[in-house]
Amino acid sequence: MELIIAANWKMHKTAAETAEFCAQLRLQEGRFSKVEVLLCPPFTALAAAAAALEGSTIKLGAQNISWEEKGAYTGEIAPRMLKEFGVSHVILGHSERRHIFGEDDTVIRKKLERALHEGLLPILCIGETEAQRSAKKTASVLERQLHAALEGLDPESVGKLVIAYEPVWAIGTGQAASPDDAAAAASLAHAVVEKILGDKVGSALRVQYGGSVNAGNIGGFVSLPPVNGALVGGASLEPDSFAELIVAAGEAAGH
Ligand code: PEP
Repeated sequence: MELIIAANWKMHKTAAETAEFCAQLRLQEGRFSKVEVLLCPPFTALAAAAAALEGSTIKLGAQNISWEEKGAYTGEIAPRMLKEFGVSHVILGHSERRHIFGEDDTVIRKKLERALHEGLLPILCIGETEAQRSAKKTASVLERQLHAALEGLDPESVGKLVIAYEPVWAIGTGQAASPDDAAAAASLAHAVVEKILGDKVGSALRVQYGGSVNAGNIGGFVSLPPVNGALVGGASLEPDSFAELIVAAGEAAGH
């Protein structure tokens, strides 16, 4: 199964910085074998990214969407506005959206349904907090988040799906999960999605690990079969080291 490595830039990079990054990354694109690469810049940099990536295999994703199609929703961005720039994926349920901006399972479900309806491929983030981990609730938290997002959806409408297992305590802290713990969570996600949505969605599902991934540790994650890529924050902001991360992932993926 092809790995998917996605860059989540959060609130970093202007349009000009994005154009420069894309030009630099493209110089190394020929080295990205066995890996699908996705950049998720801020909304304001999407046009610059789309122009700089023309003719490239590197794809574009968004970091958020509105659950509405259009209308009087000040400050919101609709999927159709993003598709105009060639956006194909959207990150949903990121822990910063859940914990800083108060998005709960209901909001995430509405956004997921909107993304599917508009033909955007969701990267659904799930993950436990430090307190939940200490209380040995990781599995039950992941199951709850997956059921809330996916239960009752028509498998035909879902098609392809990406889940990002991102333990909250590992995001931006420099303290990554162990590859074995990431693989255990990824296995659980594969099993739960298959149970909820059936074999067809289950066999197309890719589960990423996210949380302090870098070029030095990526190999340990993607060499374990349940882990099909990574969602990368801090280590995706500099083109040369992000390229090294992608190359290391491709080399480590012997499955
Ligand atoms: C993220 O924001 O999804 C993330 C995993 O960040 P970092 O790689 O910086 O931990």
